[in-house]
This record gives sequence, C-alpha cells and structure tokens, in this order.
Amino acid sequence: LIDGAWIDAPQTEANVSPSDIADVIGHFPLATADMVDGAVDAAKRAFPAWSREIPEKRADILDRIGQRIAQERAFLGEVLAREEGKVLADALAEVDRASRVFRFFAGEALRVTGETVASLRGQCEATVRRRPLGVVGMITPWNFPIAIPAWKIAPALAFGNCVVLKPAELTPACAWHLARIIRECGVPAGVFNLVCGSGAVVGDRLVRHRGVAAISFTGSTTTGARIAAIAAGRMARVQLEMGGKNPLVVLADADLDQAIEIALNGAFFQTGQRCTASSRLIVEASVHDAFVSELAARLRSLNVGHALDADSTIGPVVSEPQLAKDVAYIRAGREEGAQLVTGGEVLERRTEGFYLSPALFAETTNEMRINREEIFGPVAGVIRVADYDEALAVANDTEFGLSAGICTASHKIACHFRDHAEAGMVMINLPTAGVDYHVPFGGSKGSSFGSREQGRQAVEFYTSTYTAYDRPL
Ligand code: ADP
Repeated sequence: LIDGAWIDAPQTEANVSPSDIADVIGHFPLATADMVDGAVDAAKRAFPAWSREIPEKRADILDRIGQRIAQERAFLGEVLAREEGKVLADALAEVDRASRVFRFFAGEALRVTGETVASLRGQCEATVRRRPLGVVGMITPWNFPIAIPAWKIAPALAFGNCVVLKPAELTPACAWHLARIIRECGVPAGVFNLVCGSGAVVGDRLVRHRGVAAISFTGSTTTGARIAAIAAGRMARVQLEMGGKNPLVVLADADLDQAIEIALNGAFFQTGQRCTASSRLIVEASVHDAFVSELAARLRSLNVGHALDADSTIGPVVSEPQLAKDVAYIRAGREEGAQLVTGGEVLERRTEGFYLSPALFAETTNEMRINREEIFGPVAGVIRVADYDEALAVANDTEFGLSAGICTASHKIACHFRDHAEAGMVMINLPTAGVDYHVPFGGSKGSSFGSREQGRQAVEFYTSTYTAYDRPL
C-alpha cells in the first residue's frame, strides 16, 4: 500500500499455516527496494498536511480504526490464528488488544502537552513544545502480528507522523488487513504505507533511507543491533525491543498451585513465543521437587494442536526453521547435562504442521546455553536455589532485562524484588508475560534500546521537543 494505492510486487510468496502446511492463507508481495523509496517519498509528501491536521480529526480516524478492528474481530482472529499458529482464543485477545490500542491513542492525540517556564531573562517566557518527527519506519516480528504493528502505528499517527510499515515475512496477512482497515477508515493517501518483503531488502532499505526520521523495531537482538548501528550512522532516532531470558522466581512461601499456573502460562502459553516468556524458573530448594513434578503433570495435560481446534491449548511452532531451532536447543540442553522432565518431542497431528510438546528441563544451571540464549519456543529450565538472595542474583545474571517475576507471600521480599530485579517490567504473583497497553512496555540491558513503547510515554519517541523563548514587545 503505497500512497493510498495497492501496488503489485514483481514477486510473491505463499503464506502457509504452521498448523497445516496445506492451508495457504494467500500469496503476499516481496517488494523491492525501489518500492520502499516510493513509500517513503509518499509519506514525506503527506507529512505537512497530516502533521498540521487538527488533533480531533486524527483522534476520530484512530477511533474508527479501533472500532473497525473490533467489528472484524472474528475474521481477523481467524486469519491471525491461521498464519501465526496461536490458538484462536489468544488470537482473538490479540485482536481486541489492537482495537483498544487504537482507541487509547485516539485519546492521546488530544493530550500532547508542553511546559511553560519562567525564563531567566526578564519579561521573557520559555516554552517547551512537541512536534512530530516526520516519516517513521516500523519493522515488526511475527509473534504478535497485529498488536505490535498497532502499538507502533497508533501513537505515530496520533501525534502527526507518517508511517512505512515492514511486517515480518511469516505474517503479512494481519498487516495487510490492518492496512486495508486503516485506508478504509479515512487515513489520507501516503500517511500510512505498507511494504511487505524480506528484512534484507525491504527492512534494510527502510533503515538506511535518509527520508526516514526514526525507526521503531521489534525482533531479534542480532537484527536490532545491526539496525541501531546503521541508524546511528545517519543520526536517525531508533527504538528497539528485542529478546528476553525472563526469570520467574518461586519462593517456598508462595501459593504453590498458583505459582504452577503462573509458570505454565508465562513459560508455555502461546508456544513460548513471547519475548516476555518465563524461560528460567528459579525455585527455592524446599519446594523444588514438588514444583517440578506438578508443573510436569500440568504440562502433560495440555493439548498441543491445530490453532483453530477448540480443544487446543497450545498451537504449533511458527515455522519449520523455528522448530529446528527449538529441537536443537533441546538437544543442547541434554548434552549439557540438564534433565528433560517432560516434552521436547516433535508431534504428529491430524494435519501436517510444526508441533512440539512443551519441554521442561530440571537440574539446570544458569550457565547452560538453554538458560542464557533466547530460544523463543516452548522450552523452560528450572534452576534450584537455596534462598531469595541467590534467586535474585541468578535472576539478574543475564544479558537481558525485559520482564522478571516472583511468586511469594512476603510483601517485604516482593517489594525488594520489584526494586532490585534488573528488568523493565516486574511481575509479583503474575506471569512474566501479559501486559497492559496504557503503561510503558520495555526492558533494560540487552532487551531494549531507546525510549519506551505504549502508554503515555510513547509520546517521547514519536515527537521531539523544541524550546521557544518569547519576549513580548
Ligand atoms: P526473528 O528471528 O523473530 O525473525 P528478526 O530480527 O530476524 O527476528 O526479524 C524481525 C523483523 O526484522 C522482521 O520483520 C524481519 O524481516 C526484519 N529484519 C530482518 N533482518 C533485517 C535487516 N537486516 N534489516 C532490517 N530488518 C530486518
């Protein structure tokens, strides 16, 4: 979608369901670098009028987009479940999230504020004001194919920017339908552009294009680091959300049943394919054995199956390469001496897809690769610790810092963990995954770079400030 028109690309690629490789959702474009240039040029041309538009107009359009997403909920949820493989209930919840995000930022469009300060010079006033950046490039991953584009696009448009979105190769359908809705809801031509295709061609051109003022990226740490280096070279603003190796601490005083449900949800739901998934379960020794055996029993009771089957609790892994990666990590875990308590088997189902039983390792150490590197699959390792102090040290001994959780009945320890866990999001008696959209999302250390996404803080990335000094004559 470039300058308000749907353009054919010279090549297309089949979008295949990971639940059933015979289910082809569609054939989506592999755009060229020239098409990226066309999209950026269109966005630049659209920017002056859009950025000067009265905020209420932008708010109304965003509100309409949010409502349309809600109206098309059933359809979009099914497309999402088919192309990404999360079970339908999770897909519908993600669509709801996208709808809410647009409506939240519809309101935020009216709340761009500044600051008035007495100047140090007499009879003079200083004001700090905000303005949009221009063209923002967005590069998104496959694991939340409608919610992540939504939480980047909505604030960008709300504050008067124009957008070029490059969605993940594996999930173009959600982005395509979102673009269709955005266009149908009255966003002017060129204000929002969609360019589908590969990271190496489309993504790379977007990052290098001098007409793109800022890049918002969610994806792997390797790609994020490359993008940051290129963006820095041309002084473009950049925001990166990358990996996690999120710890969940379970202390002896926790409600064990609740802690097991929290671990189950945080580590394995949505096939563990969440950057906030709890992949390191750090458990106090006195409850360790009970925790492991009961969590394993719960895992065996889950149904891994087709994303659209009503009785599936966990869908397939997103793709064949990702399945191969998960299996390789499971092998590495065993070779390093971890004990595979349950799961880790490639499964056959009624349709041909990428099914893997959720894998729980025990007797792991924090030095093992399975506890240091992000796997991005239904794999978690349990680490036994003597007490809270050791648990906190292990939790923080990682290069990542996205989300961290603790299960405990002690308010004192929970507060200590809240303030000492090196993570951008801290969860007390809650799964590490699962966040609200009206508060900031992001991490510390190697997980994030740049200012926060979502919530009121999103304005920091999508606007820049300027300072005006004013002396009345
Ligand atoms: P994942 O392992 O989840 O696919 P990636 O970081 O490779 O993570 O992908 C996230 C997004 O980044 C995708 O949209 C992908 O196409 C894009 N991407 C991959 N490589 C590059 C690159 N060199 N430049 C820009 N974008 C890229």
